[in-house]
Amino acid sequence: MTKNFTNWSGSITFKPSQWASPTSVREIFKLIKKARRHGQTVRPVGSGHSSTPIFSTEDTLLSLENLSGVVSSDPERGTARVLPGTGLRELGRQLADHSLAMENLGDVDYQAIAGAISTGTHGSGITLGNLSSTMIGGRLVNGLGEEVPFGTEAGENEDDDLLRAVQVSLGSLGILTSLTLRVEEAHQLHRQNWITHIDWVMENFRELIETNRSVDFYWYPRSDLAQVRMLNKPGDEPDLTPEGEPYSYLKKDLTGPNYEVIPNDRALHFEEMEYMLPLDTDLSAFREVRQRVRAEHRAEVGWRVLVRTIAPDSAMLSNAQDRSTMTIALLQNNTLPFKRYFDDVQPIFWDFGGRPHWGKKHTLKSGQLAELYPEWGTFQQTRRELDPDGVFMNDYLRELFGEES
Ligand SMILES: Cc1cc2nc3c(=O)[nH]c(=O)nc-3n(C[C@H](O)[C@H](O)[C@H](O)COP(=O)(O)OP(=O)(O)OC[C@H]3O[C@@H](n4cnc5c(N)ncnc54)[C@H](O)[C@@H]3O)c2cc1C
Repeated sequence: MTKNFTNWSGSITFKPSQWASPTSVREIFKLIKKARRHGQTVRPVGSGHSSTPIFSTEDTLLSLENLSGVVSSDPERGTARVLPGTGLRELGRQLADHSLAMENLGDVDYQAIAGAISTGTHGSGITLGNLSSTMIGGRLVNGLGEEVPFGTEAGENEDDDLLRAVQVSLGSLGILTSLTLRVEEAHQLHRQNWITHIDWVMENFRELIETNRSVDFYWYPRSDLAQVRMLNKPGDEPDLTPEGEPYSYLKKDLTGPNYEVIPNDRALHFEEMEYMLPLDTDLSAFREVRQRVRAEHRAEVGWRVLVRTIAPDSAMLSNAQDRSTMTIALLQNNTLPFKRYFDDVQPIFWDFGGRPHWGKKHTLKSGQLAELYPEWGTFQQTRRELDPDGVFMNDYLRELFGEES
């Protein structure tokens, strides 16, 4: 009898017939070859923080938890080679031992690096790309059970088409076994969390994103207040703060290594929908979302709406591909209904050409997605070449990619 797998938010449960936690790449070769012979599916999983069924399988669920840690670093080139199951928190600690650090991080550090990269996990900052864009090379095991190097590990540069396909690939091209990351010198960040009225944030949004290294804000629909998080290298802080504004106060003020200062602890579990929109539409989409939430959902929305920015990149399925990006996320406590709220607000994101976060709730399928991603067809072709028998496909991915079963 095997046990059920349930994701972090609790909305996805399935029962794999086998849980595998290989301790070597050789074991992964064997596992994939065996699955292929028997016409079975293998789905890799990180820490299970996604809330779309991208990892679901009734066959083999493959955890990389035993392949973890920083293997080597090259401080002069600003790179580090890491194993796929390394948790982001542990990665921060181990990079610090090499006097190095990730360029940026998202809201939490519970994810495994390969899981975070596979869905385009991002933090905030107009000059800071998502985590996937920092992967400049690596190795994967394809659907034939063969090792395939890409990017710098294949002697290629950052324009390598295979690298650009793998950077955001939802575990559909193969099992990542080694990742070469572009990293920065270890650095301190000064974090300030201000509470203020949303009107102040909307009036100053452009200046805030242009003068802070990283800034994001939460809007609380019931109070109409906002929490603005600003992160800067000590000494680089801009003058603009809401100090003295009505309702404003400094809620958090701390300085430390980036991997300790950026992430938050999340005790409250929630469901989330997040869309990536062109930054040049400014806060137009947010204004519509705010209006819609206040008119229709204020009573049922338990939590908040998060706005962030991302620098453009070149990954084929990156939702920040080739455009400076602004993101809007709806967060709802996982004990409260989310479907009516998310379904009602989602069309606003579509009107602005929004691309969904691959690891969060959305309802788009291949037809709509193909229009949002200029290299959709190239990605699908690469996937069929690397996994001709669909070892990495599950029902959800088949529908998402428009693949016959
Ligand atoms: C509390 C919370 C906070 C979050 N904050 C942010 C945020 O700030 N920014 C953001 O962008 N997102 C955020 N997310 C979303 C989250 O970062 C993504 O869903 C991420 O992919 C989860 O990482 P994971 O390790 O749990 O991977 P999983 O959810 O387990 O898997 C994600 C994908 O990676 C694939 N995968 C895993 N390991 C491998 C491997 N070795 N080789 C190939 N494919 C693999 C899986 O098959 C799957 O397709 C948050 C989610 C939660 C629950």
